[in-house]
Amino acid sequence: MPQTVSVDELTALVIDVLIRHGVSPDNAGPVADSVVACERDGTASHGLLRLQGYVATLKSGWADGCAVPVVEDAAPGLVATDGANGFAQPALRASASLLCDKARYQGIAAVAIRDSHHFGAVWPDIEPFAAEGFIALAMVNGRRRMVAWDGKRKVLGTSPMGFACPRPGKLPLVWDQASSVMAQGDVLLAAQRGDRLPEGVGVDADGKPTTDPHSLLDGGGSALPFGGHKGSSIALMIEVMAGALAGGCFGFEDRSFEYPGAQTSKAGQTLILIDPSRASGSRYFERIESLFTALAESGVTRLPGDRRYARRERSLRHGIELSEHQRAQLNELLA
Ligand code: NDP
Repeated sequence: MPQTVSVDELTALVIDVLIRHGVSPDNAGPVADSVVACERDGTASHGLLRLQGYVATLKSGWADGCAVPVVEDAAPGLVATDGANGFAQPALRASASLLCDKARYQGIAAVAIRDSHHFGAVWPDIEPFAAEGFIALAMVNGRRRMVAWDGKRKVLGTSPMGFACPRPGKLPLVWDQASSVMAQGDVLLAAQRGDRLPEGVGVDADGKPTTDPHSLLDGGGSALPFGGHKGSSIALMIEVMAGALAGGCFGFEDRSFEYPGAQTSKAGQTLILIDPSRASGSRYFERIESLFTALAESGVTRLPGDRRYARRERSLRHGIELSEHQRAQLNELLA
């Protein structure tokens, strides 16, 4: 295994791993694209780090790597997709063309995906829609890992939300964030490195502040919402949009513990697309850059997404460098 690989080479390797562990070729592509996009752009919490988790989940029987998503034209502005207990990325890809047709025709449309496992970052789901000229807002819920504000035990997922919008002549603006102070993947990375967590990230099984990542991962502890009650309300909204509306399991309904080794959340996802040209003609595109100019003039030197885009450029130019640990893990998964 070479130390530096191209995006295409890494994608082929990840597809190979997934297929060897029971994912159909149709599903392996979208999952691999998400994993490799994260590795390429430096979202370490949801890149190759997650591959072992996908494989362990498949082995446990918790998710179906060969699921065939069922896309339903539910209403003029709504696509309802049954992920059939498979991964979320293939379900979204199967829904994308109908979703875009509806959003173009009506100016706005949403897809609600149920019975699907989202184990990745949200930005790879939404950036392609913004590149096509849509504003995109996505919400994904997950298995319970977080205590709600004022709560005594965990009920909510660390559920992420992402937003993307097109910019004339520029790459889209994209932000994507967990509703917890720290994403679970970063807690996992801290545990792997033997690091402590910063103060304020989580509480232990007795509700006392902890900086031990293992307490949050497998010690009965809970993540805390970012911004106190405000992040808690966002996580609550995501449970409503991705659990109640889309029909995914709520975080507290998680049954993954019945499948030893399972790591993914069997949950839901709602993604809303708006065609800005239908709302205001060319006004959106004429006006939006003045906002970024005002931000730059105020001293803002970095927009959300800038770090990833810079990292992407480097990866595309020089390849993706794999650590010794990553190469050993890939070799093991390919064996
Ligand atoms: P981060 O806190 O790392 O980043 C959140 C957003 O803020 C990013 O868009 C980032 O842009 C931007 N940002 C960071 N620093 C700055 C700054 N100084 N100025 C301006 N913008 C900034 O994300 P999280 O740790 O909360 O989440 C990491 C990933 O985990 C996400 O991709 C999320 O989707 C995923 N996740 C997935 C879950 C699932 O169940 N599938 C559950 C929870 C999280 P940039 O990318 O350029 O740094």
